[in-house]
Amino acid sequence: MPEECLFCRIVAGEVPADVVCRGRGMVAFHDIAPKAPVHVLVVPERHVDSMAGVEGLTPGERSDMLAVIAAVARDQGLEPTGYRVVANHGADALQSVFHLHWHVMGGTRLSDSM
Ligand code: AMP
Repeated sequence: MPEECLFCRIVAGEVPADVVCRGRGMVAFHDIAPKAPVHVLVVPERHVDSMAGVEGLTPGERSDMLAVIAAVARDQGLEPTGYRVVANHGADALQSVFHLHWHVMGGTRLSDSM
């Protein structure tokens, strides 16, 4: 765990976050600057920098990550109306936190430019 990694520190409970759920090697918490009425981040407990490092997770973790994303969206009530799942990698995508995370966004009609 890189000591300076913000999301590692949230996973470790060293930095407060509005946690939605923990389990299956994942932590989900509300984005501090939400871009939609519901904006939850799902992060693996194990540090990898981004989607480009996904091979650093076990097959079980990769599988659980998708299941947790879908469960979070369902638990947030987004399934009937829809939601978007985004993972940014690198400069062109404006990645700002270098610990793999999935944005789960919904609760309104989302922009087609995102
Ligand atoms: P990205 O630009 O894809 O790297 O997304 C990073 C996200 O982390 C942004 O949407 C930020 O608003 C969010 N964020 C940054 N710091 C925190 C924090 N302390 N707690 C929750 N979300 C955060």
